[in-house]
Amino acid sequence: MDFNNFTLAVDGDGIALLTWDMPDRSMNVFTEEVMDEIEAALDSLVADEAVKGIVFTSGKAGSFTGGADLKMLGRMLGDYRKLEASDPHAAMTQLFDRCGRMGALWRRIETCGKPVVTAIDGTCMGGGFELALACHGRVATPRAKMGLPEVKVGIFPGAGGTQRIARMLDAQAALQFLLKGEAIGAEKALAMKLIDKVAAPEELVETAKAMLKAGIPAVKPWDQKGYKLPSGPVYSAAGAQLWPAVSSLYRKETQDNYPGARAIVKCVYEGLLLPIDLGLKVEQRYFASVLRSTEAAMMIRSLFVSMQELGKGARRPHGIADRQPKRIAVIGAGFMGAGIAYVSAMAGIEVLLVDRDMAAAEKGKAHSASLMADRVKKGRAKEADAEALLSRITPADGYDGLADVDLVVEAVFEDRKVKADVIAAAAAAMKPGAIFASNTSTLPITGLAESFPEATRFIGIHFFSPVDRMMLVEVILGEKTGDEALATALDFVRAIRKTPIVVDDTRGFFANRCVLRYMSEAYDMVVEGVPPAMIENAARMAGMPVGPLALNDEVAIDLSRRIMQATMADLGEAAVDKRHFDLVNRLVDAGRLGRKAGKGFYDYPAKPAKKHLWPGLKELYPQQNAEDVDVKELQQRFLVTMALEAARTMAEGVVTDPREADVGSILGFGYAPYTGGALSYIDGMGVKAFVALCETLEKRHGERFAPIPLLHEMASAGQTFYGRFRPARQAEAA
Ligand code: NAD
Repeated sequence: MDFNNFTLAVDGDGIALLTWDMPDRSMNVFTEEVMDEIEAALDSLVADEAVKGIVFTSGKAGSFTGGADLKMLGRMLGDYRKLEASDPHAAMTQLFDRCGRMGALWRRIETCGKPVVTAIDGTCMGGGFELALACHGRVATPRAKMGLPEVKVGIFPGAGGTQRIARMLDAQAALQFLLKGEAIGAEKALAMKLIDKVAAPEELVETAKAMLKAGIPAVKPWDQKGYKLPSGPVYSAAGAQLWPAVSSLYRKETQDNYPGARAIVKCVYEGLLLPIDLGLKVEQRYFASVLRSTEAAMMIRSLFVSMQELGKGARRPHGIADRQPKRIAVIGAGFMGAGIAYVSAMAGIEVLLVDRDMAAAEKGKAHSASLMADRVKKGRAKEADAEALLSRITPADGYDGLADVDLVVEAVFEDRKVKADVIAAAAAAMKPGAIFASNTSTLPITGLAESFPEATRFIGIHFFSPVDRMMLVEVILGEKTGDEALATALDFVRAIRKTPIVVDDTRGFFANRCVLRYMSEAYDMVVEGVPPAMIENAARMAGMPVGPLALNDEVAIDLSRRIMQATMADLGEAAVDKRHFDLVNRLVDAGRLGRKAGKGFYDYPAKPAKKHLWPGLKELYPQQNAEDVDVKELQQRFLVTMALEAARTMAEGVVTDPREADVGSILGFGYAPYTGGALSYIDGMGVKAFVALCETLEKRHGERFAPIPLLHEMASAGQTFYGRFRPARQAEAA
């Protein structure tokens, strides 16, 4: 039998080895053709009496599969939408059947009567791990990474994952595994009994064959009489304790914003009340429904497709050879510089870490030592890794070493004069062709570039704190920034495994500009007398990871005051709301500077006590009755004010690609991920509906909510952000 994606060989003991190796792909993924071929192979192997057992493996060293091709899901959804207009019932039936294809095939493997073992080397995610779970045995290499990450892109494991995991683990562990969507290593999978054996890559297939030869049952426990669920029946004393808690925990974690996560809880609960075949049907129904949700469409687009495209350099100028720097210099070994040195050394880049004196430079390097010590303690790195990383960071108190580096990243004090001096001195020591990047948060790149002899080689690379954890980097183009500088910056950001967005040189760039709106809306609410706890809770209910007042404490309230002062100095008194300025002045004057001072909008008592909102805040402004506050409207105000700001950045050309605004808003300031980002929030409800919502809020809360002309124009033309700003992409998807 001839396959495009598989080879098949049966050995003398009657064991068939089905090896998956897709041509022209670095990683195997499930496509319609792959499924057809698995089905055909299964038919022939089951019919062949000489075949006693089957080993399913991958021909790609270091990876089994990345899961389903999300484009396949896109096509299914596209077909559904096309048919929906003329025949909604047929459209739904077709989608339902296609959603069940993979699950049904895995169930056939499970019940085919012959034992099947998967041999897993490296990555085995999503539908691939669901396939493995349907097999009768699993063996994996020590480097295997297995998991069901679907929930992270708005869907959930819909090919039996929820049913088998819930029958292999106790209900609580199963829910945790499914709702977190984290990948696990071979050791952990073995301990959880999700796999049976661990074997070195060169012994993997032989170990799988040996399992078959030793004899393993070709019938799963749940298909045998007398099967008992790991944590007992749902309707039992234990179940009565567990399930109400599950429901409230789920709501606490997700605020019920994620249809994919909600479906996981339902599938497990309802599935465990039923025999497996009916449980699989329940899963299939929920899958077909979740797949049609706006949240799934938006999350798949932003958190999977766009993130991948941006990470691969979607905005990189064409025709410039790889410029990934081998050696860089970081000038300024303070809070940010030390973090930049760490993430660069982590990526294997040699770093010269420069500060005004050796003590300061050494202190910057010590930050890496402490982060690595922590990783070693948690078992995430070995002592040798820590040593190797530290050996790549060379502290220095002068610019001698600058002649050897491809890129200089400046992170000295946020002061025009200090930066200008550093830039000029560094320029004199750098080799020809090397690029200079500033990490400034507020100073225009074009202005800073004046201190550099060749403005084409000058760019902004704006990190977020803490550098080691924040995945977004804004790459800022000055007026004269050239393509080589842009390519270098993007190659560097890719090397350190962060996601770049390319932004124009304007006040606040993109992310800070939007996030200021978030905090400013909260100031309005405080001044209006909305109880502070409701402000924080409404923000979290809207899907924000941190309440605006807590966030302001992290950023520091005196910094908010400085930003307001600078804005007034540059743009005039009217540029800042006087009531907001009064509010921050009251806090700063009372020494409430935020977390660093142990008090801000919150009080921070000594551990283990938890932070709590400062009771005095309520006394500053007459409080509204909690019952009179419209919590839904508070949520909308947060999401709308940031989305409107993101729309303004597009209208002004600060950001030019909606993918960047969306991904930037989620990674940069945690914009409710279930929306797919600030612009997808608008596209998701439709620009017309968004304009109407803005107008309602404008009437009630003032002109900051007035829709901008671009939105009116788009609403009357029936456009979306992706349709208007990425027409090529839209055509592709149709
Ligand atoms: P920081 O005060 O912690 O560190 C600045 C460092 O620069 C200090 O170690 C200082 O000794 C050193 N320095 C000052 N003058 C120098 C000189 N002439 N030569 C060499 N080193 C010199 O400040 P930070 O928070 O790390 O901020 C650094 C830059 O990063 C600023 O431009 C800031 O706007 C920007 N930034 C900060 C954040 C943040 O959250 N803190 C976020 C993004 C960008």
